[in-house]
Amino acid sequence: MAHTHAHGDHTAGDSQFKYKLRTVVLGLEVSDVTSYFNIQNWPLQNGQIDLGNRIIEIIPIPGHQQASIALYDYATKLLLSGDSFYPGRLYVRDWPAYKLSM
Ligand SMILES: [Zn+2]
Repeated sequence: MAHTHAHGDHTAGDSQFKYKLRTVVLGLEVSDVTSYFNIQNWPLQNGQIDLGNRIIEIIPIPGHQQASIALYDYATKLLLSGDSFYPGRLYVRDWPAYKLSM
């Protein structure tokens, strides 16, 4: 189980998955994301995860939060961007990183 970023409203339910069989709950730091998805050059390199004939691209998009990622599903062509891109009030902690991510 990965998070689009580490804010509490996205991680509050983690404890209910902590002891599930065959479940990994990723940590919330950039180092947790880079090590799990084998991203050598954060934020300039993407990672991937294979869900079984379904590749999800893991795209670093720091700015809203330092460990923010987007997930691109090649099967549906949907991009899940968490809180980093939506029509509404957006909090950005690091504008240079956010601009590069967008
Ligand atoms: Zn957020």
